[in-house]
Amino acid sequence: MTSHYLQCVLCGRRYEDDQLHYSCPHCGEAGTLDILYDYDSLRTSLDRDALKGDFTTNAWRYRDLLPIAADGPVPPLSLSVGWTPLYDAPRVADALGVARVSLKDDGRNPTGSLKDRASALVTARAMAADIPIVSTASTGNAAAALAGIVASVPDMQAVIFVPATAPEAKIAQLLVYGAQIVLVDDSYDVAFDLCMQTCLEQNWYSRNTGVNPYTTEGKKTVALEIAEQLDWQIPDAVVVSVGDGSIISGIYKGFWDLHQLGWIVRMPRIIGVQAVGSSPLVAAWENGTPGEAMQPVDAHTIADSISAGLPRDRVKALRAVRETGGAYIAVTDDDIVAAIPELAQLSGVFVEPAAAAAFAGARIAVQSQHINPDEHIAIVLTGNGLKDVRTAQKSVQPVASVAPNMQAVRDHLRKLSLI
Ligand SMILES: [Zn+2]
Repeated sequence: MTSHYLQCVLCGRRYEDDQLHYSCPHCGEAGTLDILYDYDSLRTSLDRDALKGDFTTNAWRYRDLLPIAADGPVPPLSLSVGWTPLYDAPRVADALGVARVSLKDDGRNPTGSLKDRASALVTARAMAADIPIVSTASTGNAAAALAGIVASVPDMQAVIFVPATAPEAKIAQLLVYGAQIVLVDDSYDVAFDLCMQTCLEQNWYSRNTGVNPYTTEGKKTVALEIAEQLDWQIPDAVVVSVGDGSIISGIYKGFWDLHQLGWIVRMPRIIGVQAVGSSPLVAAWENGTPGEAMQPVDAHTIADSISAGLPRDRVKALRAVRETGGAYIAVTDDDIVAAIPELAQLSGVFVEPAAAAAFAGARIAVQSQHINPDEHIAIVLTGNGLKDVRTAQKSVQPVASVAPNMQAVRDHLRKLSLI
């Protein structure tokens, strides 16, 4: 296994891998852990050019930079997670008024979101530890990702704690994958606490974001891919939407690891985008509030994947922006909805509201000069548009029917200026 240790982001205490800590016992829930490696030794043993001869087309391509057993089956999962396309999008660049835009289409993962990367690594860790049950509290992409990835592995079970208010359609997806559901008659936060207590009591493995430090390690693979796909010429800025803060933390960690190895010469600025109705990190960044001092807000946004009143990974999420000279940007729900068809029509990539928020936020970042016109930016598109067709419907006009004859068809096409 790639040698690594865990270190608290608040107090700096160090823990060994087999201590199986979720977060620092001295600092409590805000004391999330970094997974760190012996970078001196990796610098001499690894060579980025060796990747050119590696034909692994999934995130396990970076197994030497991941806390997984190198001698086990690689990958240990049958589903192919990661190595999603990075598109050059000149028309998006023109629309935003920047020199170059790269779109990372992570909706192409097996269950349609970037969270498959975290679930894949967490599931591999559970397999290595002989823990057959993995659990999380979620109704959204994290739950779908865990249910789907676990379903691809024999003799494993996903148990998802879901607040009873969750939409039935989302619960249906979990049931289709064979996950067991604990429908809790209370809020997400209560479901989260019950999930954690159950995991500790039953020795199940918890995938919960912000608690399990390996989720960040899984998510960092998106940054490793962006760097390699751009031949290590990293963009000036990377823009991503932020809810619990785990994805932006993963992006930071991926580039940070590469920087430690000397594979990239500098860090990109990292720009986080939140919905106005769920923007505690924007406020904390503007006010200089430390993550551990943040207080919960009442979160409301149409982009449910980034709705979080008190982001679980808030300490790491603020670090990602502060240490790279980036920014936090807020966008309205109206901007998010309008961004869905605009991005789709400029690039052919259909994304869910949370991912559209990143595109909408990039525009505001240009207007507010957090991004300069001569720069190259990457926008991380975290989820597929088919995840939330109902919101997409709000972004387009309904279509009236035409009479079944050619005259009516011609009249209609004229109205559309097609003939
Ligand atoms: Zn600590």
